[in-house]
Formats: sequence, C-alpha cells, structure tokens
Amino acid sequence: MAKPINFKVTFDEVPEPIRQDGAGATDPGPRDILRALENPDMLVPPITDAGTVPNLRFSFSDTNMILKHGGWSRQITSRELPIATTLAGVNMRLTPGGVRELHWHKQVEWSFMTVGRARITAVDQNGLNFIADVGVGDLWYFPPGIPHSIQGLEEGCEFLLVFDAGDFSDLDTFTITDWFAHTPKEVLSANFGVPISAFEDIPTQQKYIFQAEVPGPLESVAIPDPFGTRNFTHNLLGQTPITSPGGSVRIVDSTNFPVSEQIAAALVEIVPGGMRELHWHPNNDEWQYVLTGTGRMTAFAADGTARTFDIRAGDVGYMPFCYGHYIQNTGTETLWYLEVFKSNRYADISLTQWMALVPDQLVRDNLNVGSELMNALRKEKWPVVRFPGYTYGT
Ligand code: MN
Ligand code: MN
Repeated sequence: MAKPINFKVTFDEVPEPIRQDGAGATDPGPRDILRALENPDMLVPPITDAGTVPNLRFSFSDTNMILKHGGWSRQITSRELPIATTLAGVNMRLTPGGVRELHWHKQVEWSFMTVGRARITAVDQNGLNFIADVGVGDLWYFPPGIPHSIQGLEEGCEFLLVFDAGDFSDLDTFTITDWFAHTPKEVLSANFGVPISAFEDIPTQQKYIFQAEVPGPLESVAIPDPFGTRNFTHNLLGQTPITSPGGSVRIVDSTNFPVSEQIAAALVEIVPGGMRELHWHPNNDEWQYVLTGTGRMTAFAADGTARTFDIRAGDVGYMPFCYGHYIQNTGTETLWYLEVFKSNRYADISLTQWMALVPDQLVRDNLNVGSELMNALRKEKWPVVRFPGYTYGT
C-alpha cells in the first residue's frame, strides 16, 4: 500500500493566518510559504477589510516571458488582471543592438526607461521625423498610428510601456516585416519601382524583436528632413518635484508635455515610514507600476467594502476610478512607483485638503472628532506624508 502523502509543511519561520485578537487558525498545508511571506496583509488582512473587492494587483513575475534573440517582453493586460480595462503594460528588455522592429498600433504608447539607454525613431503624418537617444528617467509618447522603433544602445536597456486599452497585446501590432510578408511581391515591386528580386530575402513572418549591431552615434544616423522634426520625449526624472515630508511627486501630462494628450502620470517617491496620503482620483482609473521597494495599499470601494494588497517592485497595481486609497512604504528602502491614467490631465482629491476646506463643525459632526484632528488639517496638499516618531508596524 502506498504511503499516505504528508501535506504538512515545515519551514523555519512560518507565518500563520492568525490575527492578534486570536481570529483565524494555523494553516498546516498545502501552502506556498514564500507567497505568504510576501503578502502579510493578505494572509492576515487588517480588521478593516471587508467584502468582495476584486483582485487589484498582478506581478510581472507571474507573466509569460516572450524570449527572442535581441531581448524579451512580458505583459500585464486585462487577460492577467481583468479589472484593468483602461490601460495595459509591457515590460521589455533589449540587448545592446537589440531592436523592437518598425511598427505601429491603434493604441497610444507611453513609456518610462528604467535601465540603460535606447534609440527611438518615429515619423508622423506630416513627415516630421524624430530620432533620439533616451536614458533612465526619460519617457516617450507615441500617438495612435504613428510608426516607431526602439533599439538598445551599448549597455542595452529595460523599460515599461503603457497602452490605452486593457486588452492590448504587443504581439498584435502592425509590423513592417508582417506587412511585407503578406503583400504580393509584384505589388512590392510596383510600389517601390524595383524588380521583384529585390525582395528575395524578406522575412516570411513578423520579427517583433531581433538582434542587430549597436548603431553609431546619433549624429551619424541623422536624416535631414525637409519637413522638420517633432519631439516625442520628456525627461520626467529631471523635472523639479513637488516635495512633502514623506517624499516627492513628479507629474507629467499634456500641460507640461503637450504631445501626451491621452496619458497623465506621476512618478512618486515614498521614503521608509512615509505614505502616499489618503486620496482618490476624480477622472479615471489608476494603473500603477512599482519600481523599487515594498508597500501596501488598501482600496476603499464604498458600501462597507475594502481590501488590502501588499505590493513590491515589479508589481502592477490597479485602483478603479474614485476608490479611496493610500500607499504605505512598509520596507527599509525607498518605494518608487508610477501612477498612470488614461487622461490628458493628472488629478487627485486629497482627503485632508477636502476636510480642511469645509466648515469645521460639519467635519466634527460627521466623524465625532475634536480639536486634535481639526487643528492638524492642512489646506495645502502633502502628496506623501511622514510624521516624526511614526514607524511602520507600531
Ligand atoms: Mn509600439
Ligand atoms: Mn492614487
């Protein structure tokens, strides 16, 4: 007779689903302890959590890697995170010389460089061209239908791409190789005025990402354009931030980067012990990408419901329109993340500012609070707060 399988787990420091008040019970297994260690607030949710708020977080580590000679990509779309209907994200790496091929798509493309440098190209409907090198902290924006390419420079690169449709797929774009492969060769011959033999070696399917030589200096590839040039990039990290005691915020939208007509974003820094203040967004859903550190956020979804998520570098978070939320740095390193919106303007409503700008007695009567809180309310927004003496976990 087969030996009965022992599902019980053994591990040095096993976190158990037991709250301080004794609610809950041990989990003898089967279980994924590494996951439990990463998600303390999901294993033991705060007592304020309630109801059935859907999943609002997905890790790029749980996606399907597309590996190519020249780099890789992976995506988080509404297929991975069903609630994320407004935006989808792609994380891409290109080797030195690796090329994301010449292509275009129906969606807006907004990008943030996280590692290395890349050369991007684009040409618009009026023949205005753009060839530029971008580095860490830079972003680019390509309007729908504008053809473009990305190539890794000497050190290679990694970046985030955001598209304004939740069901986007980066494998389903209009690529130059795919079009050539699906056009009769006599038509190619007629279009370019060269013999059919000129197309003998064209690819038979889309390349998507491929390896090429590292291109020469920018000056060496300049194309004199009789129609002029048009800028599609912005140095977000180089912007002067809005600072408050817990960190900083850099906002980019169509007011300071005019081409970005359909995406608004903020690069947020939260120091250890700091917290992105309680707020919500009055214009659209928020799509988040965690760049460094660890944190937690609670979505307040009205009707007595709320759910807390632990987040870490490489995660995408999603906060539906109007849901109240915060992001707290729970670690010992600085938490950097991006907030991205399908909107031409960045907008948030601060709970503190709202309470400071309505009649004092009204707030006291709503919340049964006294002078201690009322005197602490600020009329100015502090996007990231940190109070002396406050330490996470106490
Ligand atoms: Mn693209
Ligand atoms: Mn927010």
